[in-house]
This record gives sequence, structure tokens and C-alpha cells, in this order.
Amino acid sequence: MSNYRKSMIGNHKLHPETQMMGYGYDPQLSEGALKPPVFMTSTFVFENAQAGKKFFELAYGKREASEGEETGLIYSRINNPDLQVLEDRLALWEDAEKCLTFSSGMAAISTALWAYLRPGDVIVHSAPVYGGTEYLIRNILPMFGVKSVEFEAGGANPTLEPAIREAQKLGRVAVIYTETPANPTNDLVDIQACADMADAVSKHQGDRPVVMVDNTFLGPVWQHPLKFGADIVLYSLTKYVAGHSDVVAGAAVGSASALAPLQGFRTILGTMCDPMSGWLIMRSLETLKIRMEAAALNAAKVADHLKAHPKIGQVNYLGFLSDDDPTYPIYRDQCGSAGATFSFNVIGDEAAAFRVLDALQIIKLAVSLGGTESLMEHPYAMTHSDVPDDVKERLGITESMLRISVGIENADDLIADLDQALARI
Ligand SMILES: *Cc1c(COP(=O)(O)O)cnc(C)c1O
Repeated sequence: MSNYRKSMIGNHKLHPETQMMGYGYDPQLSEGALKPPVFMTSTFVFENAQAGKKFFELAYGKREASEGEETGLIYSRINNPDLQVLEDRLALWEDAEKCLTFSSGMAAISTALWAYLRPGDVIVHSAPVYGGTEYLIRNILPMFGVKSVEFEAGGANPTLEPAIREAQKLGRVAVIYTETPANPTNDLVDIQACADMADAVSKHQGDRPVVMVDNTFLGPVWQHPLKFGADIVLYSLTKYVAGHSDVVAGAAVGSASALAPLQGFRTILGTMCDPMSGWLIMRSLETLKIRMEAAALNAAKVADHLKAHPKIGQVNYLGFLSDDDPTYPIYRDQCGSAGATFSFNVIGDEAAAFRVLDALQIIKLAVSLGGTESLMEHPYAMTHSDVPDDVKERLGITESMLRISVGIENADDLIADLDQALARI
């Protein structure tokens, strides 16, 4: 194994945070440059015609790769060195065989669903899911004959099994899709239960539904869905992974066989990531762990402060789950941290919540999450504005709810900012 793909020193297995500085990149191929250059090129020159022919045979699956043979560089919609190194590094966090990067989280999610759903199929999904995903499932997939059934995140997921039974009546259950912790309620879904359900369905229908998990909130540092039986892990890299609120990108992680249909679709749909974004995300990966840890430490302090604040009602912070809560075992077994994004309710109505947002001095009023800076927003009127009001009420998304993505500033400064803003209620 060449030095740039090193994963062990003797019997010692290297950790991802170490490997982010060098894995998958051979300086000798780039004039000795310590860091990978940005390969701003649309196409690649073949050494000779025979080499070009062999690359295409492999890329289009016309023959199996021979021992040690890798797909040659052809064209940046198919592959690019920055994206290959980035994909190798992202896969390491989850001990996964393969990763594919996309132009956005929604590009990853829509390409994955399109690759696996056919007319007449049913997707079973947890609720709530990210607004764009919800729109895709509710409004776009039905145009192509795909039906959906939802189950509620939280409460030990008692609605999962009835949802599967209902879906089986409607057609072939092709995908079980979840997002956990759910946005903005932080309700949890038991990934292992979804995988077990996929096994049970496969006994009836022959083929097994593909289990997909949107792991944007806790992963890839704190939650590893593949270990709980998921087939494909999806990311908005825009959030914690890129982490500086300056890139939009996405990823899918899993086994080579689970990702093969996505790779084919990505090539034809053109939903791949671009080299410059890929390079920026590689830089971000070097600090991923320390950024997420710093944000989580801050979030714990901010959450504690809010919980004790007289103008605050419920705080939906995972660290506050009591051990008699039915979802506590999911949190204990599945999540490595309470994370750094959570929602809470102010005492009052929409106007009170808006007064707090408008008074913030350090924390920015913006949607998105997972950046170095703290952001706050109003889910009811902003990120979840499209969700029907009765569904919002059912899921506990109220007009007095605010969501905060805690960044890596000084926690005391954030608390001072929140205190002066809450004084406006
Ligand atoms: C932001 C987000 C997405 C969509 O990602 P984009 O990069 O904006 O396309 C999907 N899922 C979750 C949980 C997100 O937070």
C-alpha cells in the first residue's frame, strides 16, 4: 500500500482526523506540492488512444477492473482528482467503502432517490424531514408515479411499523428514508429499526428496500448510520462538513454496490460537485472534528443557560433527554454527542420570537446551520414555512419556536447576546 493511502502504523489504526491531512493524495503526481492543487480542468489528456479506450470501458462498466486498476481521469463530470481525494477522505469517517460528492445536499438526495425509485414504488419516510426533501417527496416524485407514507420521528418510533404495512398495500417498498435527529425538533429515529424493517419487507417482496439516512446534523463525527444497518448515508456538506457557510455541496456514502446506481445517474444528470468546492471542503475536513467539538461545547453552555432563563419554555436539546424518555436508548446507542443545533420556545407568540431575532447583535439572523458562526431563525415562518400548519402543530413546530446553530465563538459572548435579545420580550 503506497504511503499516501496509509491507514495503519504497524497494528495501530490511524484516526480520520489524522488522515484528513494527507490521505489519498500523492505529492509526487503534482510537482511535490504538499497540498493538492485545484484541478480546474474540464477534461484530461489521454496518453494514447488505447488508454482512452480502456478508461471508458471501465467508467461505463463494459468490463471489470483488473487487479489494482483504477478508473482513469476522463472528464470532470465523471471524475476529477480533487473530488476523488475528497471522496476517499469523506469515506474514512464512516469506515465506508465509497463516497460520491454532489453539487448540493439536495443533488445528493434527489440523485439517490431517483436512482432507486421507479413508477409504482413507495417510499416510507420519517417526519419531519428537510424542507427540500419534503417537497421532493410530496410534490415531485408523485409526478413520476412514486407514492409515499410517513412515520413520526420520536417516541421510540411507534408509527414505523404501521407505516410500512400501509406502504406494502400501495406497492413495492423501494426506499426507507430517515433524517435523525430531525430538524428542528431533534426527535430521533432508530436506524437499526429501519434496517430490521427493510429485512422484514424483503421476506415478503423479494428485494430489500434501500435504507437511506440524512446524517447532516450529527455526522460524520458523531453518528455512523452504516453501523446500524443503513445502506446509504446522505449529507448536505454545506453544513458542518464544509462548515464555513461559503460552499454548497452534498455527498452519499456507502458500499460500492449501493452507490453504483447513484454514480451512473450522477454522470448522466450532471449533479457532481465542482473542483473548487471540493478543494474548499478538503480544507474544511482538516478542522472538522475540532470545529464540531468546539460548537458542541458551546451549545451545551448555551442550552443550559436558556433552560434556566425565565423567558424560555421548552429547550429541545438532546443533552436534556431524561433516561426514562422512550427515545433515550436511541440517543445513547446511536449518537456520539448532543450536537450544536437545537430549537427552543420563547414565552410568547410570533411577535415575541421576532423581537428576539431582530435584537441579536452577534448571532446572525439566517437559515442554514453548521458554520463557524452562530445563526438563528424562526422555523415556523422560515425553513418550515411550506409545511402545512396542522402538520407543524402535530410535529411541535410552533410560532414561539426559534432554532439556533451554535458556532465556535466564545460561549459567554453568545449568552450575553441572547440575554440582551431576550430582554426585549
Ligand atoms: C441543508 C440540508 C439539506 C439540503 O442541503 P443543500 O446543500 O442546501 O442542498 C438536506 N438535509 C438537511 C438535514 C439539511 O440541513
